[in-house]
Amino acid sequence: MAVKNVLRIGDPILNMLSEPVTESEYKNIHTVVEDMFDTMRHLQGAGLAAPQIGIMKRLVIFGFESNPRYPDAESVPETVLINPVIEPLDSSTDQEWEGCLSIPGMRGLVERPNRIRYRGTDQHGNIIDREVDGFHARVVQHECDHLDGILYVQRIKDMRDFGFTEELDQSLQYNPAPCDT
Ligand code: ZN
Repeated sequence: MAVKNVLRIGDPILNMLSEPVTESEYKNIHTVVEDMFDTMRHLQGAGLAAPQIGIMKRLVIFGFESNPRYPDAESVPETVLINPVIEPLDSSTDQEWEGCLSIPGMRGLVERPNRIRYRGTDQHGNIIDREVDGFHARVVQHECDHLDGILYVQRIKDMRDFGFTEELDQSLQYNPAPCDT
């Protein structure tokens, strides 16, 4: 159990493609999963992808209990998702503000599919197959982007919709993301 250093934007590792977790690797993955949860909780994040702590494997964690500071944000079950596959369920999209533990103190407005199906396994090899929408769908897509070396800033359409949280707080249109992922 350990809090790991989270890589920050500019580190070339964050731009790299991660490898699938192989069957023989499942038995060794529990320490990594524990370290990821320790790190995410320490930083009060809602999600974390393995490459953010320098492990180039297709493994993400996420989970978010409802927070009195952000009553509109739905809770998301605590999940370990390995070798994920995502598909949009329809053409509807949403624009919301996102933050990232690899881009501390900043937020950007990102458009993503609103309803998705995602599949994969947990750390014990149990199948996960869910249809979700809203913040849950957004967190999963943000985390899985990390596995392909994509940071949310690459998805911002207008760079005026990007900035430091403290400065954005002065803008009336700004509806902050509940936490970094
Ligand atoms: Zn992130």
